[in-house]
Amino acid sequence: MIERSRIESLLADLVRIESINPDLVEGGSGEGEIARLVADFLSRAGLESSCRGIGPASRAKPSPERSRRASRANAVGILKGSGGGRSLMFNGHLDTVGVAGMAEPFSGRVEGGRLYGRGSQDMKGGVAAALLAVEALARGARLKGDVVFAGVADEEYESKGTRALLKEFRTDAAVVMEPTGLEVVTAHKGFVWAEVRTLGRAAHGSRPEEGLDAIAFMGRVLGGIERLENELARRRHPSLGGGSVHASTISGGQEFSSYPAECKLRVERRLLPGENSQTFERELQQILSELSAADEAFRVKLEIGYSALALETPPATSIVRALMASAEKVLGPEVRLGAQSFWTDAALLSEAGIPSVLFGPGGEGLHSAEEYVLVEQVAQCAEVLAECAREFCNARA
Ligand SMILES: [Zn+2]
Repeated sequence: MIERSRIESLLADLVRIESINPDLVEGGSGEGEIARLVADFLSRAGLESSCRGIGPASRAKPSPERSRRASRANAVGILKGSGGGRSLMFNGHLDTVGVAGMAEPFSGRVEGGRLYGRGSQDMKGGVAAALLAVEALARGARLKGDVVFAGVADEEYESKGTRALLKEFRTDAAVVMEPTGLEVVTAHKGFVWAEVRTLGRAAHGSRPEEGLDAIAFMGRVLGGIERLENELARRRHPSLGGGSVHASTISGGQEFSSYPAECKLRVERRLLPGENSQTFERELQQILSELSAADEAFRVKLEIGYSALALETPPATSIVRALMASAEKVLGPEVRLGAQSFWTDAALLSEAGIPSVLFGPGGEGLHSAEEYVLVEQVAQCAEVLAECAREFCNARA
């Protein structure tokens, strides 16, 4: 049993450190300071630990403010097994989104069983649970397989932390402690971004014979995207529902009295397992080539951007079975196997050949003005994670 006061003080320490992702929000401090705290905790618990820099913020032309303050790092600890077992990773991101509109973003205040502050739920609560789990494991009987704790940078932007981690560390499975409300989550959607530019011809508004209206052209594209959205909603995955597509931003035109020369649309497609950026590229190409065939004046350019795959770990996978069994042992038979809509680093781990699941304490206020995590669920999560490591790592590799 982990003492409640110990959970609250560790979690409050994590929440009080501002670790806003500097690529997401100008002026954010990054993960340097929190990674040092985590690495120190791991060392004191008896793990081999290190703080690994992953380079500065990635956007071009960082402000002097940001380049002075932001530092990016992963904190990694290894609890060495005695050999012959399977290795398990606990992976949690140390960065948070911004704090606009929050009254006390870094208070770590506890009230009515809730601990408040930015990142308390997403996902310092899960990070604290895994830290306390590895500490308890380090004190107990030695496991056969290794346990790797990875506190990673940049999940809220481009996942540079987990990408860097994967160059050095491989385990037989991973648990990512995102807030699932203690549900064992084996699937979530992926996403892909694209930019469509329609090209018109600028002309004086009084001369329709000379002008071509790029914004009206984009209206046709938007019609095609709406039809695609309806079609995607009909093809349903058993636990994730349909894929989807929506317009994100649009801009174009010069002034009232001119035909717009260009219109730019950004779109996002959420992906189901088995779909990827080429899936969306084909769908958009189809829409655009039909529009081009129907009107020779219609001109368009397409660019596919950043993408990340969906997660789908089969329920029969050994990590899912070990985690389900451990959760049932600690929490009782009502533990559920589920799916989430939001993307996580578990998809990257899975893509690299490490079967991964999500399991973490719940609360409320993901990315919103008031965020909290339920302290009781942090405690339960820690116990389940420790039990899961005993179950998984002591089985033969
Ligand atoms: Zn998260």
